[in-house]
Amino acid sequence: MSNPIDSPSSFSDALLAWFDRYGRHDLPWQQNKTPYRVWVSEIMLQQTQVQTVIPYYQKFMASFPTVRALAEASQDDVLAHWSGLGYYARGRNLHKAAQKILSDFNGDFPQTFDEIVNLPGIGRSTAGAILSISYGMRTPILDGNVKRVLCRYDAVESWSGEKATEARLWQRADALTPSHRPDDYTQAIMDLGATVCRRSRPLCEKCPVQAECAAKLEGRVAEFPVSKPKKAKPTKYAVLLVALDEQQQIFLQKRPQKGIWGGLWSLPQFDDEEALLRLLADEVNSEQSSLPSRPDLLKLTQFKHTFTHYHLMIEPIILEVDSMLNMTGKWMAIHQAVEIGLPAPVRKIIQLVEKDYVKNRTVRKNG
Ligand code: SF4
Repeated sequence: MSNPIDSPSSFSDALLAWFDRYGRHDLPWQQNKTPYRVWVSEIMLQQTQVQTVIPYYQKFMASFPTVRALAEASQDDVLAHWSGLGYYARGRNLHKAAQKILSDFNGDFPQTFDEIVNLPGIGRSTAGAILSISYGMRTPILDGNVKRVLCRYDAVESWSGEKATEARLWQRADALTPSHRPDDYTQAIMDLGATVCRRSRPLCEKCPVQAECAAKLEGRVAEFPVSKPKKAKPTKYAVLLVALDEQQQIFLQKRPQKGIWGGLWSLPQFDDEEALLRLLADEVNSEQSSLPSRPDLLKLTQFKHTFTHYHLMIEPIILEVDSMLNMTGKWMAIHQAVEIGLPAPVRKIIQLVEKDYVKNRTVRKNG
């Protein structure tokens, strides 16, 4: 599968020359490249675009400038800084790993590959990026961008998630990584994937390795990387209860650590309307069992939120209550609720309820 016409040094030389001229050199994590700063940026950049990450990164670093500061923060505080970036396991693992660095390494970021790759949330590619960028070590990386570049460069005919293909891509990534300037090379190949060898409409005419790129030479760029064999995503369903009291407070529950939105505050969730009605019937010891007979419930428009493995059809239902709910959780002023670590769709619902419902309710009452 390796490209027969290139040599590793011609690839890295061309890439480094391109990086010196066109690469990105002024991103916040490229200044003062400590392993801690590089690590946080690498975790944030997984699944998220550079432009989205920058303000989150700056705020995160201002609040948690050191491993110790991060380790000693509460999980709520860390997740509040992550709110909106998605994939919250990344934030939870970052926090856990900081605590491990504090307990096992006295707060000093570890310096060997094995120590780093054993921290929560750090895989082989992230460990490689941290070591090469912050310590200048020759450790290859194979993130999504690099996989795409190599799959096109070598015209790899199988899906990169297959075990055998991935193993061969790692060999290839290793062979192409130079001993000279490995830190810049790591940045360069990530930049090439993000800005030139882009997922859609790659800019091959601007690419420094186009003369040796198999996909380009064969006129088959659009065929690579080969997609994962398709499986349709299932759709699940959830009712989210928006319980409001007289003081314009909303009822929130903390999600279990495992599963979607782990550790975040959220609205009480039910599998369906029946499950919600059963809880309410128990609450007021009522015989009522169908939604139309509950005029105090107001259904909002359903909407779809997509996760990696499935779609979630969300139906928010408003309930005005004047007594405590028989559930574990807490009441919070609605304007404060939008400031804490909430999953994006839950924040959307609460903002909408605050804007369109609570304000009108106040007007109705005052009028
Ligand atoms: Fe990617 Fe095009 Fe460069 Fe090949 S020539 S590596 S497809 S940008």
